[in-house]
Amino acid sequence: MGAVATSRRARIRVQGVVQGVGFRPFVLRRARELGLSGFVRNDTRGVLIEAEGAAEAIDQLVADLPVLAPPLARVASVAVDDLELRGGDDGFTITASDPAGEPLAFVSADGATCDACLAELRDPGDRRHRYPFINCTDCGPRFTIIRGVPYDRPLTTMAAFTMCAPCLAEYHDPSDRRFHAQPNACPDCGPRVRLLGGSGGASGDAVSAAAALLRDGAILAVKGLGGYHLACRADDQRAVARLRARKHREDKPFALMAPDVRGAAAIAVLSAAETALLESVARPIVLVRRREHARVAAAVAPASRDLGVMLPYTPLHHLLLADAGTPLVLTSGNHSDEPIAYRDADAQTRLAAIADGLLVHDRPIHIRTDDSVVRVAAGHPTVLRRARGLVPERLALPTATARPLLACGAHLKSTICVAKGTSAWVSHHIGDLDDAATRLSLAEAVAHFEALFAVVPEVVVHDEHPDYASTRFALDLEGVEHLAVQHHHAHMAAVLAEHGCAADHRAVAAIYDGSGLGRDGTTWGGELLVGDQRGFERVGHLHPVALPGGDRAARQPWRMAAAWLVAANGPEDALPDPPAALRDIVPAGDWKTICEMARRGFSAPPTTSMGRLLDAVSALCGVRAVCTYEGQAAIELEALADRSHRGAYDLPVSEDGVLDARPLIRAVAADVADGVGPAIVSARAHHAVAQATARTCAQLAGRHATRTVVLSGGVFQNRILLEETVAALEQAGLQALVAQRLPANDGGISFGQAAVAAATGGRG
Ligand code: ZN
Ligand code: ZN
Ligand code: FE
Repeated sequence: MGAVATSRRARIRVQGVVQGVGFRPFVLRRARELGLSGFVRNDTRGVLIEAEGAAEAIDQLVADLPVLAPPLARVASVAVDDLELRGGDDGFTITASDPAGEPLAFVSADGATCDACLAELRDPGDRRHRYPFINCTDCGPRFTIIRGVPYDRPLTTMAAFTMCAPCLAEYHDPSDRRFHAQPNACPDCGPRVRLLGGSGGASGDAVSAAAALLRDGAILAVKGLGGYHLACRADDQRAVARLRARKHREDKPFALMAPDVRGAAAIAVLSAAETALLESVARPIVLVRRREHARVAAAVAPASRDLGVMLPYTPLHHLLLADAGTPLVLTSGNHSDEPIAYRDADAQTRLAAIADGLLVHDRPIHIRTDDSVVRVAAGHPTVLRRARGLVPERLALPTATARPLLACGAHLKSTICVAKGTSAWVSHHIGDLDDAATRLSLAEAVAHFEALFAVVPEVVVHDEHPDYASTRFALDLEGVEHLAVQHHHAHMAAVLAEHGCAADHRAVAAIYDGSGLGRDGTTWGGELLVGDQRGFERVGHLHPVALPGGDRAARQPWRMAAAWLVAANGPEDALPDPPAALRDIVPAGDWKTICEMARRGFSAPPTTSMGRLLDAVSALCGVRAVCTYEGQAAIELEALADRSHRGAYDLPVSEDGVLDARPLIRAVAADVADGVGPAIVSARAHHAVAQATARTCAQLAGRHATRTVVLSGGVFQNRILLEETVAALEQAGLQALVAQRLPANDGGISFGQAAVAAATGGRG
């Protein structure tokens, strides 16, 4: 023996780790390798390790925990305390969970097939060769199959499948990769795929037969992890156009799945950050720049410079893409506005008219979960839709909530949030609550999240809008205290809380979105606020204009063009003529009626919506007069902006913080009349809004003694606006905070509501 090493005993507390991802077996293996004795167990606060042995070995274990932990474990923090030595060497073991108190049974998100499973999937000698449900503790379904807690096979949708002897042996062997892997299965005992319909001869297995149909131009419904997709070749214009027609989806881009990173790089220009997102265990759809001359049908993403690309995330996808040998369109399995189908009988009825065949399997999906959508913006990964692979990761509230709470979110892009202490869990994207099926999903999500995270809410938070379905849901709950939070304050609080700002951390915020009910009873959407998570003051806003026909104006941007032209003229001026671009689209009589409505405020309530201003610009320069999906006019306007043009329209801001866009509208109309193209008009309008916003926020920050500026609301998913405003603020020495882990749009509202409730003690 050499020099005697210093011995040490330590208590190591690990937080953030979710269940069912092989964390304790990992600790066991590593501790034994390092020659340590002691134990690891779950308790009410997370995972507890006590280890004794050489001091360097203990340091090594502590260092390894966040780095070498299994991919789904997501270690949040590791804290170490020294204990008195106990001596003796009784080895290292996994001990039973501490039965005292209610465990923090964190549920894992679904994880992409790991490399070890992928190698087996492709190995002709392996017993799971080409088995579409291969998984282990490092990968596989979790959130989408969990019916309740504790996370054990009987409470998953795998309950009906009884493990065969070899699978059971793996399941009980702590040294096996499948130790306590609840969805463990093999071809002998697990779920199976079947191909329904489709006239193609079923040679070989169902997956290769499906791939052959796809190669020949068929449209197939494919049952995935969180729901059904509709699939077809991405390079087949006729197949994609047929899918659009059958799905009744005219323009909204379809997502693609590429077989691998090389396949993705062949159709899109990928940065290192984007590649990392594509390959992350969450496997989201990543919005990336389309390559020129990429072999992708024009109908996949009309009027867009970008493509939504993802990589295979289940073994079934890996097999299907490898067999098809070409990128596939993989879009949600539904008619345009319905929620994605996930129950077999329902899917098979609804999708039969769209798909030529269905590739199905018999592992039920417990909770409908769309694909997540992310993008790199302002240098950071930014979530646009938070769902499969990201949910239900715990989010930290900077202020502990005194009472357990439920926050019901907004009306569009609905999510809900349950919270207790400093822990918050935001649901997957539920959808737009105009749809009855989606409203049912909201109620189911609330019940599911309350059960999964043992939250019995005493406070229920909702938007101030009385007509949101989420507000009505909240107010129907009895025996709880209700708290209403203003929409744009919730947007602001969500970003502050996401970045860990204390409850009294003061900030200026520019919150730009489509609409939200303001404190004065009008529709807000271009708001400058000062405040913190406890409260706010409105210190500026976009000049208000009429919203002719209310919600219909969002679907018909030409109405906003009329409203803004009326506002830009004096009250005594004649009604504006329609710009050339709209003359063929809008009947002269309709134009006149809408202008009259706008002028008199008849059926045309005032709005300060920044989304609607961009709509007006889009319609004025002939980009989009009528939308087929939400936000289309502004999205297409952004897409064609000339990125090299530096000019900006005049957008003055008054002493009392009013962004006066009337000169901007007059300048747009003059440019259009002079034949200036939409690419230049778009660039000038974007620069104007970004510069005016940054300038005004900097002044407000000085006046209100803060260095923090929050930018949020759905309009800040506009990348030009976001990146330019952030750059200008940072140049002015300010800290710009933007939404990253939660969407800037209304998908982030429920978390903001929770943050406000926590910061105010639930008393608003
Ligand atoms: Zn695996
Ligand atoms: Zn088996
Ligand atoms: Fe909003």
